[in-house]
Amino acid sequence: MKTVFVNLYFVANPDGSWVLIDTGVPGSATKIKQAAEEIFGKDNRPQAILLTHGHFDHTGAAKELAEEWKAPIYAHPLELPYLTGLSSYPPPDSSVGGGAMAYMAFTYPKKPINLKDKIKVLPNDGSVPGLQGWRWLHTPGHSPGHVSFYKDEDRTLIVGDAFCTCHAESAISVFSNKREVHGPPAYFTPDWGSAHHSVEKLNDLNPEVAASGHGMPMRGSELKSQLDRLVHDFWMVAVPKHGRYVHEPAVMDESGVVSVPPPVSNPVPKVLAVAGAVAAAGLAWAAFSNRKNSSQQKHASQNRPYSHNRVMQGTPPGIDPNQDDPQAHTNNYP
Ligand SMILES: [Zn+2]
Ligand SMILES: [Zn+2]
Repeated sequence: MKTVFVNLYFVANPDGSWVLIDTGVPGSATKIKQAAEEIFGKDNRPQAILLTHGHFDHTGAAKELAEEWKAPIYAHPLELPYLTGLSSYPPPDSSVGGGAMAYMAFTYPKKPINLKDKIKVLPNDGSVPGLQGWRWLHTPGHSPGHVSFYKDEDRTLIVGDAFCTCHAESAISVFSNKREVHGPPAYFTPDWGSAHHSVEKLNDLNPEVAASGHGMPMRGSELKSQLDRLVHDFWMVAVPKHGRYVHEPAVMDESGVVSVPPPVSNPVPKVLAVAGAVAAAGLAWAAFSNRKNSSQQKHASQNRPYSHNRVMQGTPPGIDPNQDDPQAHTNNYP
């Protein structure tokens, strides 16, 4: 399911129990709850809420949903400072990446949310609370305690923001359904060396399907060739040419940010800030027209095999982007 520009995932076991991975932008709790009820039924609450990392677009509804469902939230220990009010993330680098999403980054909240009494640490043995046959992998770089989730049996990867399947800095790409492997969202990535190691680690798994925090799921040879290229050419295609964290990472530990490199001058002239505002208006329009579209298509989408509008029966469907209709998964709850 997509909330505005970020995905979250409902992942089920064969017995119908399930977990929620990430929780969308702030204000999406009601939509997520509705979707969950449609898929799993009213009384089937998740075993756990799992966070790939603590950025605001992945944790927006975490607190509300954890309270509503009385479900624990799990995250990596190195992500806890930003989820328990201890530390802010390093400042975003809006001088990198290009595009409206990056220019608008300075408006994104970076203050930590506080999930103190609800948050738990992911188990050391790599197992995933509430999910059978999955393991979590530490994939830092985009954030220090970033994790991805992997199911060995069918080589399904929930990436988080370790890499994207759209160009996350470009508003046009974020709102289109074009599938393309890109590096992590540049404006929020404070450690490029670690980010490179993390995509290497994920590529070594040879995933068959990869579902990322931003963009549509990808699979098969298209995924493989593009992921190979990302790993091979990472410093050319993913790392920005200039920027605050390009030559020196932010230093972070289990209590939060220790030090950050000095700011670099922002090459974005004022005229582009205005363009950013125009783009923001465009985004609002895009979200509105998506909503209009999806309500027109609602009837048809109820008959689609992989739509989350369908009540789940038996084994939950896997992610199959080739058979799937992007609208059905992503835009019914914009
Ligand atoms: Zn992120
Ligand atoms: Zn994100």
